Amino acid sequence: MGARVTSLRQAALEPALQVDLTAVADNTRRFVSWARGSVMAVVKADGFGHGLGDVARTAVAAGATWIGVTSLAEAVQVRESGVDVPVLSWLNPVDVDVRTAVRYGIDLSVPGLEHLAALEAGVRVHLQLDTGMARDGAAPESWLSLMSAARRAELAGRVSVAGVMGHLPCADTPGANEAGKRALLRGVEMARQAGLRPSVRHLAATSAALTDPGTHLDVVRIGAGLVGIDPSGTTRLRSALRFTAPVVQVRRVAAGTGVGYGHAHVTDRATTLALLPVGYADGLPRTASARAEVWLAGRRRPVAGLISMDQVVVDVGDDAVLPGDEAVVFGPGDDGEPTVADWARWAGTIPHEIVTGIGARVRRNVR
Ligand SMILES: *Cc1c(COP(=O)(O)O)cnc(C)c1O
Repeated sequence: MGARVTSLRQAALEPALQVDLTAVADNTRRFVSWARGSVMAVVKADGFGHGLGDVARTAVAAGATWIGVTSLAEAVQVRESGVDVPVLSWLNPVDVDVRTAVRYGIDLSVPGLEHLAALEAGVRVHLQLDTGMARDGAAPESWLSLMSAARRAELAGRVSVAGVMGHLPCADTPGANEAGKRALLRGVEMARQAGLRPSVRHLAATSAALTDPGTHLDVVRIGAGLVGIDPSGTTRLRSALRFTAPVVQVRRVAAGTGVGYGHAHVTDRATTLALLPVGYADGLPRTASARAEVWLAGRRRPVAGLISMDQVVVDVGDDAVLPGDEAVVFGPGDDGEPTVADWARWAGTIPHEIVTGIGARVRRNVR
C-alpha cells in the first residue's frame, strides 16, 4: 500500500507532455472545410512529436481521407494503429520492400527511374516531380523518360499510377507558388500524354493550403497545421501540447552568485532559484538559454544560466516557490505561459523543430 502511494506520487512529480487530441481534431476540421479537395494528414516524425497513431486516428475521424508519411515503417505503424484510408510513403530507398507495401495497402512515391525499376506486384504509386526545391522528386529534365517508363511498368502490371505530386519551396512567401504550380500541372499533362491517368494531384502543404487556394488541386498534405503550427503566420490554430515539470529544489542565493556551467549567469541581487529536472535531452534547446522563460507561480520566469542536459535553473525573485510546484515549459499560451513558437524564437529555429525534438524519456499523457 505504502509503495503504491509512493509510486503514484512520483508519477505526479515528473516532467510530462500532455497531448490534447481535441486540438488536433479541431485543426483537422478547419483544413477539411478550407481545402478545395481532400486532406492528407502528414504524421511523419511520430506525428510531429504528438504520437503517430493518435494523430492519424484523430485526423481521420475529423475528416482527413489520406495519411502521408516518409517511410514504409511509419506507414505500417499507421496501418497497425487501425487506420484504413489510403496511406502514402514518399522517401523510400530504391530497395523498398514492395511486398510489404502491397500487403499493407501502402502507396509509394516514385522520384526516378532507379526507384521505378524495383517496383512490382501492381503497387500503387505517386510520381514525384521536383517542382523547384532541388530536393526530393524527379528532376524536370528526367520527367519525360520517367513517364514513358512508368507507362510501360503499368502495362506490365508492375505498378498502378494513382497520383502525381510536387512540393513548394517558398510557400511561406506570398505569390511565390506560381512556378511550382505550373511545373506540376505541366508534369501531369506529360503523364497524360504518356497514357497515364493519375487521379490525385497534390502540391500544397500547410502554408500554401492556408494562403493560396489555387495550389490545393485534389489533395493538400497537412502536417504542421494539424498540430497547431502555422508557418504562414496568417491563421490562429490550436496548439495541442502542454509540457510541465515539477520544481525539485529551491535555494536562496546572494547577489553575485554564478549559476550553472561557466557561470553564464551571475545574479545581480539576492534572489530565489528553482531547479527543474528538464534540459536539452528533453528538447529544451540550449541555444535558447539566454532568452528562455517558463511559467511558474503565476508568471513567466527567466531561465538563469545555461540549460543543462537534464536540468534548468529558473529565477523566481522573492516569490514563494516550493519543491513540487509545477512549472509550465510551454503550453497553448492561453494563460500567459510560453508557447512552442516562443521557444522556437528563443532558439532561432522553427516550431517544427521544437515539437519533433521532445525527448523520448518525457512521459506522454494523451487525452
Ligand atoms: C512534411 C511534408 C509535408 C507537410 O508539410 P507541413 O508544412 O508540415 O504541412 C508535406 N509534403 C511533404 C513532401 C513533406 O515532406
